[in-house]
Amino acid sequence: MERKYTSEVDGSSGEVKVQGWVRDKRDLGSIMFLVLADRTGEIQITVKEDEVGEEIMDRAESLNRESVISVTGKVEENEQAPGGSEIHPDSLDVLSESEKPLPMDPRGKQDASLSTRLDNRFMDLRNSKRRAIFEVRNAACSGARGWFEENGFMEVHTPKITVSGTEGGAEVFPIIYYEKEAFLVQSAQLYKQLMQAAGAEKVYEITPQWRAEKSRTPRHLTESFSVDMEMSFIEDQEDVMEVQEKVVKAMVEEIKDSASDALDELDIDLKVPELPLKRLTYDEALEIAGEKGEEIQWGEDINIKAMRNIAEKLEEKGHDFYFIKRWPVGERAFYYRPDPEDGKYTQTFDLNYRSWELSSGGQRIHDLDLLKKRIEEQGMDPSEMKFYLDAFRYGMPPHGGFGMGLDRFVASILDIENIKEAVLFPRTPDRLQP
Ligand code: ATP
Ligand code: MG
Repeated sequence: MERKYTSEVDGSSGEVKVQGWVRDKRDLGSIMFLVLADRTGEIQITVKEDEVGEEIMDRAESLNRESVISVTGKVEENEQAPGGSEIHPDSLDVLSESEKPLPMDPRGKQDASLSTRLDNRFMDLRNSKRRAIFEVRNAACSGARGWFEENGFMEVHTPKITVSGTEGGAEVFPIIYYEKEAFLVQSAQLYKQLMQAAGAEKVYEITPQWRAEKSRTPRHLTESFSVDMEMSFIEDQEDVMEVQEKVVKAMVEEIKDSASDALDELDIDLKVPELPLKRLTYDEALEIAGEKGEEIQWGEDINIKAMRNIAEKLEEKGHDFYFIKRWPVGERAFYYRPDPEDGKYTQTFDLNYRSWELSSGGQRIHDLDLLKKRIEEQGMDPSEMKFYLDAFRYGMPPHGGFGMGLDRFVASILDIENIKEAVLFPRTPDRLQP
């Protein structure tokens, strides 16, 4: 008999076969209720001694919770059963026995700390609320990919092992590459720019990236995923911002279309953003932060407290997603283009959701001399980046793009406080397994 998902079973199903985990077990002596869970939901298995005989009854009695079983039987309507129907088994086979006690309760009835949950992530993810997060994440990726494909972007896969950092600073992971030192990439930045010199024009990549972040925050991972885009022949950063906002809208739409059950399960009312999104300048953002009592020195990054103040003011006006653009030159990585009219500023933006920075982007420098100068100003050595700089010597079009943190996107729109919840197996300074 072909296996059915529990979500496909109802009072009219007749004889069915279901397979899954024993999520719950209630033993009342001559009658036993099992809850069988699969990836789509749960169904009650009602085992009555006078219906099934001794062998099945004994097997059911000896089952530990979370064992994997296969059941065939007749479905009957029963208003008292969760979901309105139950299966009366003809056969009950144990496919894999679970040990006891369990390392944690996947039903979530007994609280476990985030750390315990992550230590036992395979079991934590059996909980449907946890799984819903990854259904949303899946839909977010599909939404982005779908938009890029429909709009003439090519998906690329750039190297993840490299010889230099991209974002400046010491936040790189060295690896042993035969007898040499190499690094895990901090972003796809340099290679997606090389693809502009290669004439690809419109590329995107959904990619892991690694940063040896020094601080432990609820918004930073050492291994994160980024939705990266780069395109050529732009006028200025506004062309990039238009793509950015359309991609985000497409992601939200796809989540609402194909993961609405997951949103319900997580109790999230997600609104499709209206375009164009609100655009603040960095200077305006500082002003708002100042009004609310959080003074930021011009040229500094906007700290989390100030971000919360800015987000609050924008949320009052209905803006969940918004841009902060025209960042000071000292605040941005070397590859961002200074504003040709006022070199204190750059042609850059961040996309935020409430108080979360989701994405950074802008127009890049395509002039070789300026690029070398900016690399030196950031204390890096241009001679170590020859492979990158060569691409600017033989015809590099004006170009720009963004890198949007996928983990942050998922965490922020689902109101999740710690980004670790939005990643299957998170990597942080304190966690390298599972
Ligand atoms: P932050 O200032 O929040 O540390 P950043 O400005 O250093 O981030 P970018 O270089 O702008 O990060 O990277 C682009 C995007 O990638 C970020 O907006 C963020 O969404 C994501 N990202 C970067 N670093 C991390 C990280 N350590 N963990 C999770 N996401 C990250
Ligand atoms: Mg940034």
